[in-house]
Amino acid sequence: MRASEVVVCGGGGFIGGHLVAELRRREVGRIRAVDLKPFNEWYQRFDDVDNVVLDLRRSDDCKEAVAKAAQVYNVAADMGGMGFIEHNKALCMLTVLINTHLLTAARAAGVRKFFYASSACVYAAYKQTSPDLTALKEEDAYPAMPEDGYGWEKLFSERMCRHFTEDFGFNTSVARYHNVYGPHGTYDGGREKAPAAICRKVIQAQINGTDEIEIWGDGQQSRSFMYIDDCLKGTLMMMDRGIPGPLNIGSSELVTINQLVDIVEGIAGVRLERRYNLSAPKGVSGRNSDNTRIQQILGWQPSITLREGLTKTYKWIHEQMLTREATVVVS
Ligand code: NAD
Repeated sequence: MRASEVVVCGGGGFIGGHLVAELRRREVGRIRAVDLKPFNEWYQRFDDVDNVVLDLRRSDDCKEAVAKAAQVYNVAADMGGMGFIEHNKALCMLTVLINTHLLTAARAAGVRKFFYASSACVYAAYKQTSPDLTALKEEDAYPAMPEDGYGWEKLFSERMCRHFTEDFGFNTSVARYHNVYGPHGTYDGGREKAPAAICRKVIQAQINGTDEIEIWGDGQQSRSFMYIDDCLKGTLMMMDRGIPGPLNIGSSELVTINQLVDIVEGIAGVRLERRYNLSAPKGVSGRNSDNTRIQQILGWQPSITLREGLTKTYKWIHEQMLTREATVVVS
């Protein structure tokens, strides 16, 4: 019998959890979700999915993960926001083991389509030195000078996908995600990214009755942020149509971190005193997604506004934090 499973590697994480949920909604058939974390720590858990805990840095675990797979989505990585990737470069680079062993195992198992989640962190640092930059086109990754550690690993793994396709005829799709956010993701603990961190800080200020918020950097650094639903839509369109990429999947709504805080404050109905921590990690000065190629290839680009996506994200983080507060008070 021909293998038919759709395997989501990193299924216990933020994007992986949403991807599993969407694949279930689309009734794609048998789904297997694989993650390193204990099952009770997965962000989204589904009983009708084959949930497996494996360490995908290990070759044997990769073979087991994809043994019955027709399609593989690799969204597993040891990663986090700027605070994590600036201080954990070796750990970020060790993620190369995951994609390397997964590609090898998937090809050997006869997998028909393989997706790899790359990142805007592959883009050359010298093209991101100003907040009012020109948006990044796919070719701007070369000559290479990606984010140290995390970005180098992503660029290398992208390249590995490309050569598996060119040399072995193995179908790979590579997306470069730009700052994905939404509910059911990390919002504290050190791995969270800016949108979730700002939501958490605004909520915490309200819970504590303080009127201050700490912002990393001077707040002038610019970024675009993509809501999870757009990320899933682009990812599945790429896979359905067999687009090799690499392709930007990102919003082109550019905002400064100060504007991001304005939006979250507007949702919360508060105004806080801003304290800028200039020694905290802040990443490149400016980064935006040029969506010319995705528009040409897919006839679509991410369009959910930051206000709309943040409203849903804020609501979810607020519920989590209030539940946690209540649990701590009771116990
Ligand atoms: P996440 O940390 O929430 O999910 C990654 C998952 O991979 C985690 O659940 C983690 O436990 C799992 N994992 C780590 N090491 C593993 C191992 N050895 N074996 C099995 N599982 C392992 O991160 P995310 O935001 O969902 O990101 C998913 C992918 O998208 C990653 O490759 C990431 O680099 C990429 N990406 C994310 C963003 C973003 O803004 N979230 C932006 C660009 C690229």
